[in-house]
Amino acid sequence: MRIKAAVLYQQGLPRPYAETRPMVVEEVELDPPGPGELLIEVAAAGLCHSDLSTIENQRPRPLPIVIGHEGAGIVREVGQGITDLKPGDHVITVFAPSCGNCRYCVRGRPNICPTGNAARAAGQLPTGTKRLKRLDGTPINHNSGLSLYAQFAVVARRSCVKIDKDIPLDDAAIFGCAVMTGAGAVLNTAGIKAGEEVAIIGLGGVGMNALFGAVAAGAERIIAIDTNPRKLEMAKQWGATDVFLAGNDDCAAAVRDATDGGVDKVVETAGSIPAMQLALAITARGGETISAGLPNIRAEVSYLHASLVSEERSIRGSYMGSCVPERDLPRLLGLYRRGKLPVDRLKTSHITFDQINEGFDLLSDGAVLRQMLRPNG
Ligand SMILES: [Zn+2]
Ligand SMILES: [Zn+2]
Repeated sequence: MRIKAAVLYQQGLPRPYAETRPMVVEEVELDPPGPGELLIEVAAAGLCHSDLSTIENQRPRPLPIVIGHEGAGIVREVGQGITDLKPGDHVITVFAPSCGNCRYCVRGRPNICPTGNAARAAGQLPTGTKRLKRLDGTPINHNSGLSLYAQFAVVARRSCVKIDKDIPLDDAAIFGCAVMTGAGAVLNTAGIKAGEEVAIIGLGGVGMNALFGAVAAGAERIIAIDTNPRKLEMAKQWGATDVFLAGNDDCAAAVRDATDGGVDKVVETAGSIPAMQLALAITARGGETISAGLPNIRAEVSYLHASLVSEERSIRGSYMGSCVPERDLPRLLGLYRRGKLPVDRLKTSHITFDQINEGFDLLSDGAVLRQMLRPNG
């Protein structure tokens, strides 16, 4: 079928994207779903920082590619062998596809299943195919097995989780990345419990969901840190007990002073080296520094190894919030239903294809939380 999609032809173009236009919105050909695949109509797709990183060439990808890895949609057609989903069902997409059989999947860690990485590097769906091509027949690569900046997408069965139809798809879309990554980092990776303390560095879509997760968990003290004073104000309204402005030399000392030497668990969501250095600097002795933000593929951080040992510190990564999507999405949507994951607050605007390049300028400026692309509206 012929559909409209935003095709990324070149990574690393300079800003403003409104002028250099890294993505070209054009008609492309989408093949029907093969065995184990399904066709979804994309209802909403978020503009996420990882998409921006791809545009910036922080992580090289095969080109041309259709990006977009956070979304929700409606099943329109199912491929051979799929019996548990039918046309009309609503789904949230999962950006870290998994095989279900490897040593990581069977231990309940499908988020680090290596088959997803292989498919991503090859620009394929996890089924080993490519379903998108230009009108001249040139194949177009998939992103994270999804490619959601398009009116429709063919995805693997394992890249979707069915949800109830009463959840607005616009809100559901945000669960595909920002909620799982942010709330998951706090609830799963950090395992924050009632009465504990946590610091969150970086208050974008992921960081704000980490904040919601910390409030939902009943954290006694929630320290929110960002370089943007406006986001600190929002964080305060939404449940942060303490806020600190980052980007100056005094921030780490101020946090340590206010917290009797540091915070037990620190979750970094900014994906930058200064943010990670700050996270390490404000973690208390015996504490845990958790990073959920992806920096440049070659970025390195150093730490004093003797302190790691003698002060029993730990440093952990958190990918997709250590989520098992089939287990955690229903649980997170349950919190949403009870008003504890108010993702609607994060939606800055709805945009159409015409505004997608400009949208990434706004995201790059740190001026917005979540802009939602409605490819069919
Ligand atoms: Zn696996
Ligand atoms: Zn994302």
